[in-house]
Amino acid sequence: MKTQKRKRVFALILALALTLTVFTGCEKKPAKSGDSASVLSAAEEHARKRSKADQKQLKQDIEDGYLILVNKENFLPSDYIPEDLEELKYYAKDRSPDARYLKETAAEHFHEMVEAAQEENIDIVSTTAYRSYEFQKNLYDYYVKTKGQEEADKVSAKPGTSEHQTGLVADLSTSEINYVNGSAFGTSKAGKWIAEHSWEYGFIVRYPEGLEDITGYTYEPWHVRYVGLVAAKEIHDEDITLEEYIEENHLGNSIKKVVSEARNDDETDNDDETDDDDGEDSSSDKSVKEKK
Ligand SMILES: [Zn+2]
Repeated sequence: MKTQKRKRVFALILALALTLTVFTGCEKKPAKSGDSASVLSAAEEHARKRSKADQKQLKQDIEDGYLILVNKENFLPSDYIPEDLEELKYYAKDRSPDARYLKETAAEHFHEMVEAAQEENIDIVSTTAYRSYEFQKNLYDYYVKTKGQEEADKVSAKPGTSEHQTGLVADLSTSEINYVNGSAFGTSKAGKWIAEHSWEYGFIVRYPEGLEDITGYTYEPWHVRYVGLVAAKEIHDEDITLEEYIEENHLGNSIKKVVSEARNDDETDNDDETDDDDGEDSSSDKSVKEKK
């Protein structure tokens, strides 16, 4: 089937491009460590610090697509559906059953993370995780219908621009804040635990406070993204965003190119620049930023 085939080709090209980009050029090391740091690119520095096992793991994670960048400039094709979605065990029961899935590896790590929190008497659930293109489209259309285009663009991501479509993202909540999504999560016990420990399970808090000029989104303490164990640790240790990590490791352009190639191949037109937020149907107190 054409769609299937295109998806496979897309995944293959993506994996290949990423692998080539990050691992060519990173192997070179200076003959002496003395002549050094200034000569090394950030990518080489990263590679040099990694153990062999980590380097291998990162390569695998890239091949598996866990480092894919989806944001306002990097859209997903409308027919992109992760192949190995697995239903989560811990979710808010009043939310859509269609959005209870993550890619298999992300789901496994999600379960480990939630169970580790439970051992400290902290409850964490997913409110929405994977959202299909259609799901996002319905959500966005709903906002356009009820609030008008301008407001809709402030509270909902246009279809194709939501990172939730990757199957690597979960929005989290907890009983302490009645399972809403919103900035209150950041100061809840669960939110603090996530900020401190999620990297240990391969997740990052994707939209950190004060970095919306880079990520395009205001602080979302509840939105975690699976990037694999190696990248999550490095992103956490360096206190950087996924955008910066991808740029430092020379992944950005290839992703952009691959995704845009895939999109050009796609009939669906997602047109112009997007707008704000991630499309949480969440509680009120989330501030929304308007910047061009
Ligand atoms: Zn989210």
